[in-house]
Amino acid sequence: MNRIIYVAFDHLSRAKGALAGANKASDFIVLVESKRMTTGRNWHKERLFFLISSARHFAKQLEAEGFEVRYLKAETTVSGLEQVQKEFGALPIVSAEPSSFVQSRTLAEFGVEFVKNDFFLTSRADFQLWAERQKTFVMENFYRAQRVRLSILVSNGEPEGGQWNFDEANRLPPPKNHSWPEPLEHMRDEIDLQVAEELGMTATTTWATTRDGALKQLEHFIENGLDEFGPYEDAVAGESWAMNHSLLSPYLNNALISPEEVIDAVLKAYAKGNARIESVEAIVRQIIGWREYINGMYWFLGEDYRELNSLEANRKLLPVFTNPSNSKMNCVKSVVEDVDKRAWTHHIPRLMILSNLALITSTNPQQFLDWMRERFIDATEWVMVPNVIGMAVHADNGVLMTKPYAAGGAYISRMTNYCKGCAYDPKTRSAEDSCPFTTLYWDFLDRHRETFSKNHRMSQQLGGLNRLSDLPELRIRAKKVLEKLDAGQI
Ligand code: SF4
Repeated sequence: MNRIIYVAFDHLSRAKGALAGANKASDFIVLVESKRMTTGRNWHKERLFFLISSARHFAKQLEAEGFEVRYLKAETTVSGLEQVQKEFGALPIVSAEPSSFVQSRTLAEFGVEFVKNDFFLTSRADFQLWAERQKTFVMENFYRAQRVRLSILVSNGEPEGGQWNFDEANRLPPPKNHSWPEPLEHMRDEIDLQVAEELGMTATTTWATTRDGALKQLEHFIENGLDEFGPYEDAVAGESWAMNHSLLSPYLNNALISPEEVIDAVLKAYAKGNARIESVEAIVRQIIGWREYINGMYWFLGEDYRELNSLEANRKLLPVFTNPSNSKMNCVKSVVEDVDKRAWTHHIPRLMILSNLALITSTNPQQFLDWMRERFIDATEWVMVPNVIGMAVHADNGVLMTKPYAAGGAYISRMTNYCKGCAYDPKTRSAEDSCPFTTLYWDFLDRHRETFSKNHRMSQQLGGLNRLSDLPELRIRAKKVLEKLDAGQI
């Protein structure tokens, strides 16, 4: 053997990264299940189950292909690699560029050589070239440039369907008595059951742990979810946890499937006339726009970006995030329970319910970021840092988003069906039963009035604040709500 190929748990692809050029005769493959990864934090068991079982299945698949493979349990990745070098000699170790700053530094210091990370459609260097030319980092500009560069839904420089963006058509509230696709269930095998037993859990059938399973999920989405995906992508229907969402982000993020495969399947369905343009554009935007933009910004903004707290938000993580059982806020309770069950909820509950609550209560961004990292199945570092610090809680003073995503109960009432069964009233703000979101939305604007007065995109909201006739009462109510949230009583 001439070299060791180290495969990280988010690089489970035979066609990409260091394995693309692997040679059975001369390469020896190592995967390390590190104790640091599995213990020490409140990781969601479903998340650990998915990551570990996928890696073990992948190792088996490489063995079946004829590779010599070691799947090791070790304290840390580095101690695992040391163990392998003791056994096989100090062969050079090669891996794809890791997907976080910490792992990149750790492996580089150990002497691992990196090959290019090609798990994205945009290289880090190309993204940097784009970012350096921008005055502001508007995702829409990046996305349109991607459409042209990758030649997706574009002919002669013009967008398919005559529009770059179908946001207006894709903001429908949840329809009444709608029938949503049944989510696909993934059957369990010996490896899954073994991992579940080691983690002390019962394996659910929610997430696939093999490439075959991930491909079945893609097919299921194309056949059952894609056509209606766009119009209801921002709606939240309490009766269906998956709605029309693709549920592909975990597999894209651990590389069981590639963005090219998803785009290819979506465009084929469109070419056959099986999906409307609004939906096709919406999923293309998520894959070649948002996903690439967030990864690019993670590397472009640098390691210190994670620590930003420009709104000086210092409240401890609210008890409702870790124990929703006492909460009377129907939306928050339902969404946190959903996350507890499956380690997943779609982008709108993440942004407009969970993150919105963290934002308007001035919850510490780093505590909230840690919680999001631990609780979601697809929460890699590169995903969560820009999404939480920049988009969710506006802790970067507007580098990523020009204004904070703060909203009161009226938005949640329009886009979800949670408010009907709730103890609170989304329409009022300073009464005893006023929706905490509505009260705290105005209080948040009031607390940051001076900062936001410098942002012209906030002038409409501040104008609304100035017209409130009950601001003194609202401030009293907000103080009470915050005290109760801190005590886990709301
Ligand atoms: Fe959530 Fe407020 Fe609606 Fe209750 S009334 S479900 S707390 S938004």
